[in-house]
Amino acid sequence: MTLAESSAARAAGTQDFDIDRVRADFPILQQEIHGRRLVYLDNAATTQKPVSVIEALERYYYLDNANVHRGVHELSERATRAFEAARANVRDFLNARNAAEIVFVRGTTEAINLVAQSYGRWRFKQGDEILITAMEHHSNIVPWQLLCEQTGAVLKVAPINEHGELIMDEFDRLLTERTQLVGIVHVSNALGTINPVKTLIRKAHAVGAVVLVDGAQAVAHIQVDVRDLNCDFYAFSGHKIYGPTGIGVLYAKQSILEAMPPYQGGGEMIEHVTFEKTTYNKLPYKFEAGTPNIAGAIGLGAAIDYVTSMGLGAVSAHERSVLQYASQRAQQIEGLRLVGTADLKCSILSFVVSGTHPADFGTILDQLGVAIRTGHHCAMPVMQYFDVPGTARASIGMYNTREEVDVFIDGVARARQMLV
Ligand code: PMP
Repeated sequence: MTLAESSAARAAGTQDFDIDRVRADFPILQQEIHGRRLVYLDNAATTQKPVSVIEALERYYYLDNANVHRGVHELSERATRAFEAARANVRDFLNARNAAEIVFVRGTTEAINLVAQSYGRWRFKQGDEILITAMEHHSNIVPWQLLCEQTGAVLKVAPINEHGELIMDEFDRLLTERTQLVGIVHVSNALGTINPVKTLIRKAHAVGAVVLVDGAQAVAHIQVDVRDLNCDFYAFSGHKIYGPTGIGVLYAKQSILEAMPPYQGGGEMIEHVTFEKTTYNKLPYKFEAGTPNIAGAIGLGAAIDYVTSMGLGAVSAHERSVLQYASQRAQQIEGLRLVGTADLKCSILSFVVSGTHPADFGTILDQLGVAIRTGHHCAMPVMQYFDVPGTARASIGMYNTREEVDVFIDGVARARQMLV
């Protein structure tokens, strides 16, 4: 097989996934926690970093550290080149048209706040509507609530069913000419549901609304093509795709970004400043006030290289098989109820066990070296809908194995015996 053929096969998910090689790339996984081999199943909260990302950060600080764009010296030029190469990497990864459409931010949360304040604040008025779904993360709820308070716009919420899927008829009913913006999560962090975003975007555009997709839980599992989706905004965080914390991306169509006022003022986002009038820098710098997270962007670029070299097709096929195995085994545990059983889902196994509190599972599993998350997962309305105080959630990344699932499930069964 040639190199090109093997990358194509990996992208299509038709080539064997070399899990041992992948695991060897993540040094943190090689340790013991409380005397047992770490089983890291909290990937929806944050993913671990491969050696190539850690080395990219190290190389930058060892050799190239300088501020970007303004310097005339060699280090500044190197830092600028690496920073802009990372932006080009993100552009290619998302299949955006232009690097001007890639704005570096702190993460998904900042990206959504940027859109709410810069796109919505001056445009929305009394009676305009923003439509979201009942499975959103707080990051895709609260910025819109703040915007509604500021503008008099109204927040509408499309409900979900008992599997954790969006009820399409209700979405259609709530989508009207009054809808100015639709905010949808691509993959729910609490349920794992994959939303049919392309269809939802087409429907929203038909009534003249723009669409923001919260891709925080999608980019590490699904190949995203913003041009194919035709979304207006797409947000994600570096740390959930094997990159550093403190760096994220807002993709937005260029024509929309051009029409938006700056989000924050300061250095870098200006073209010319006088006390009388300031003119703004070109895209994307108009939205990048202050010294950016240069190392973070470079690390994100390396993470994208890593994920691309593994092939998202192969990654998601592997993760799907691990998730299926985990779901089958989990359902054999007496009293266990899966929360989130959508036909189309990825990565997430959320559950409750009757007669127990989810938090107790987290504590007991930790003693067994297994890292999961318990609580409301920043999606309190989802917990309210399912009438649970929270869930225990295992979330699968590319390095997780069936053997790890066995350790996790045996741990849950043991915890249940202790708790019931
Ligand atoms: N949306 C979803 C679906 C998420 O899972 C998260 C992180 N848990 C966020 C938004 C917020 O991401 P960040 O904290 O990196 O800004």
